[in-house]
Amino acid sequence: MAIDVIVVGGGVIGCSIAWRLAQSGLKVTVFERGRVGCEASRAAAGMLSPQGEAQGPGPFFEFCLRSRAMYRSFAEELTEASGIDVEYKDDGTLFVVVEGEDEEAKTKWASWQLEAGLPLEHVSADDLRKLEPAVTELATRAIFLPEEHQVENRRLMDALEVAIKRTGVELIEGADVSALTFEPGRVTGVVSAGKRFDAGVVIVAAGTWSSQLLEPLGLNVKVIPARGQMIAVRRNGCPIKRVLHSSKVYIVPRNDGRILIGATVEYAGFNKAVTAGAINQLLNAAVELVPSIEDFEVEEIWCGLRPDTIDHLPIIGATGVATGVDNLVLATGHFRNGILLAPITAKFVAELTNSNRQPDALRPFGIERFENNLPEPTPAAYGFFR
Ligand SMILES: Cc1cc2nc3c(=O)[nH]c(=O)nc-3n(C[C@H](O)[C@H](O)[C@H](O)COP(=O)(O)OP(=O)(O)OC[C@H]3O[C@@H](n4cnc5c(N)ncnc54)[C@H](O)[C@@H]3O)c2cc1C
Repeated sequence: MAIDVIVVGGGVIGCSIAWRLAQSGLKVTVFERGRVGCEASRAAAGMLSPQGEAQGPGPFFEFCLRSRAMYRSFAEELTEASGIDVEYKDDGTLFVVVEGEDEEAKTKWASWQLEAGLPLEHVSADDLRKLEPAVTELATRAIFLPEEHQVENRRLMDALEVAIKRTGVELIEGADVSALTFEPGRVTGVVSAGKRFDAGVVIVAAGTWSSQLLEPLGLNVKVIPARGQMIAVRRNGCPIKRVLHSSKVYIVPRNDGRILIGATVEYAGFNKAVTAGAINQLLNAAVELVPSIEDFEVEEIWCGLRPDTIDHLPIIGATGVATGVDNLVLATGHFRNGILLAPITAKFVAELTNSNRQPDALRPFGIERFENNLPEPTPAAYGFFR
């Protein structure tokens, strides 16, 4: 049977898109050079946190809020379709302020969100102790974001794998796409292991490796790896209930008793080393926030490469305007929010593919914006730990 759509990349973005497209009746094949979700999508922390990230309103923030609002039903549908509980936990997120910290920045951040009518609550030190008794006694107050939840992203990837297969997607793992193939005005398919595979539409969702495939088109699209190092610790009986942030670290409690501690944001190329300095700083910051973590067993350390872009916004949409090739679609550059943005990206990329019309919601994220060259992102823009 002829392939309607080839998706390059079996991360959260590629698999979510493939799922939606197959549900709409298309014959979809996903090429994944490793295992489903083996890169950034399994490395992530699974926080669904647009407010925690945002310094001001704008189309990207709106896009993130819309995806957050879709998550509960996305998670339920996926759990139903796969039989795997993706552990969508709706306990909210606390941003803890510790003695001696610059409180002004937090107050400013909270103020614009409250003025914008976003759900946010100030929490006194006493109330914080009632909510999360394990938090350091040096905490002076906290800000609670009641709508910022989390999902277990590794289970999410397991569920997506089952769901896409059950919906009829052909998933080819261990299949590196070495090139896209073209004829004038259209992409015709991909090459993998020296073989050509043809399709009506090709979607590049190859995370931080996406720009390599686009080089032959001469597109000014750079997807840049931003390394994130993480640690998982464990002890019987998890002392915290919800996601906690300090200015140096976040910690994420999982149902199985693990606590994730993250993460660095480093521009170190495609280097996936885990470094002693980063692990040391992450652990120290986590123990400062929740002192009992000192006695926890370190279970795992890892890193992943977030797909960043020059303006830190995702690249989602058809390449037609820039290249004249309408049937090539990009869905990449989700940087720190790919887990959060999977439902909305999948929805609109499926709409675009089925109608061949760019949905308005995607306009801010098209490649046309790269006509003006922007500076490279720097670590200073984001800080080493976030
Ligand atoms: C430490 C860390 C913490 C994070 N925390 C969060 C969080 O809390 N919340 C959140 O929303 N996001 C978070 N993120 C970001 C999130 O993980 C990413 O934005 C998201 O996973 C990107 O998904 P993707 O499918 O685009 O990329 P990936 O998951 O990297 O998938 C791309 C896939 O394409 C495959 N591929 C690449 N090239 C080819 C090729 N030529 N042929 C075939 N296959 C190919 C790769 O093997 C890979 O599996 C975090 C990331 C990291 C690293």
